[in-house]
Amino acid sequence: MTSRDYDLFVIGAGSGGVRAARMAASFGARVAIAENRYLGGTCVNVGCVPKKLYVYASEYGHAFEDARGFGWDSQGPTFDWATLRDNKKQEISRLNDVYRDLLGGVEANLFDGRARVVDPHSVEVNGQTYSADKLLIATGGWPFVPEFPGSELAVTSNEIFDLDQFPKRIAVVGGGYIAVEFAGIFNGLGAKVTQLYRGPLFLRGFDGDIRRHAAREIAKSGVDLRFEVNVVSIERQGRELNIELSDGTRLQVDAVLYATGRKPHLEGLGLENTNIQLNDNGAIAVDADFRSSEPSIFALGDVIGGMELTPVALAEGMAFARKQFQPLEAPVEYDFIPTTIFCQPNIGTVGFTEEQAREEFGEIALYKSDFKALKHTLSGRDERTFMKLIVETATDRVVGVHMLGPDAGEITQGLAIALKAGATKATFDSTIGIHPTAAEEFVTMREPWSG
Ligand code: NDP
Repeated sequence: MTSRDYDLFVIGAGSGGVRAARMAASFGARVAIAENRYLGGTCVNVGCVPKKLYVYASEYGHAFEDARGFGWDSQGPTFDWATLRDNKKQEISRLNDVYRDLLGGVEANLFDGRARVVDPHSVEVNGQTYSADKLLIATGGWPFVPEFPGSELAVTSNEIFDLDQFPKRIAVVGGGYIAVEFAGIFNGLGAKVTQLYRGPLFLRGFDGDIRRHAAREIAKSGVDLRFEVNVVSIERQGRELNIELSDGTRLQVDAVLYATGRKPHLEGLGLENTNIQLNDNGAIAVDADFRSSEPSIFALGDVIGGMELTPVALAEGMAFARKQFQPLEAPVEYDFIPTTIFCQPNIGTVGFTEEQAREEFGEIALYKSDFKALKHTLSGRDERTFMKLIVETATDRVVGVHMLGPDAGEITQGLAIALKAGATKATFDSTIGIHPTAAEEFVTMREPWSG
């Protein structure tokens, strides 16, 4: 160990930064971590956690209707935005404290302030400079809103959770995770939702069947889903926002949510004082050990691009700390990372899409199932579940699992283990199903899809 103030100085107390700081400290390193916004980062404060709470809230709307077919009389339930928003605030503030305690528990020094890199071994925070053998940048991402007339009137995922008033009419711009999830949330909470996507079909990068089935189900659920259209301008007219669209039409709403991607959060970090290189996407370029082109500075999580998912950042934080402070070689395995979009119904996916599998393996077999869930035979809800398996013909290995349906996230997590373990279609077939569930369909798809 050296005479520097710390062995590790972490900038950013989100999922990746906190995990790296805690692990390194538990291995005996002298650790400091700086955060200027909120402990727990995007996931805890304006991402996964509040989003999932709002998804739960949004599902009650349809659940009250579903209940009638089962004999329940649920007349006129009403929704109060302020209750949801304020209960959410309380829970998030509890989680912020949990994070503070976790860092205190391993004696990592926490600085409440924005840290700036001064030189490859020093960081300035709250007017003081601290030295460290290693610096770790884990500052995450920040919503990106393109510039156009009135773009400042749009809100992003940073603000949407805490709106003063519930937007009875909302336009959601984008066709990725956040747009699709929030279109579902506001639709379920009773708003009139228009989702605008610039291309011919949203969810680019997901399996083609899933994208088509998702468009069908989301439109059926009540979202006014419009493709091949973009926003030209937004104007405020009294309390209303007037949107001019690229197809020449107009839209009047109470709020516009922009969910058009996120960019690495590098502003004011002092990277100009280092030799850190960025890659083509503007993310910090790192090697397999998360080392940047400045040897003493590392970076991980959303700030390095890659899959912007909390569990990925956690795994990276763990691998970094083990390698640098234990030391133990336990690299992150980036294959077969499962992921879910918490739209209604959920999308769960792991492994190759059909399009990727054709390119990677040549000959593949597809198994598909499209059905109405048992629950909806009585609820009367017109919602269908879709499932798909992709099998490499030469090895019989299942290389892709895709689902659109209730609890797809919960189901896909278990199947991801099977795929990582190399399960073949024969293994799926010989697995006994759990009856009656939707998940059993994954082990009972006998006939390959013939087109
Ligand atoms: P995504 O990258 O998923 O989607 C961005 C969307 O915005 C795309 O549909 C893109 O279109 C569109 N877009 C980009 N630029 C423009 C523009 N100038 N004008 C109009 N549309 C545009 O980003 P998100 O913001 O939805 O989410 C960021 C990341 O956060 C995700 O990629 C994901 O990794 C993570 N996340 C994960 C969640 C989960 O695990 N459940 C939930 C939420 C976020 P096109 O496809 O044509 O480029």
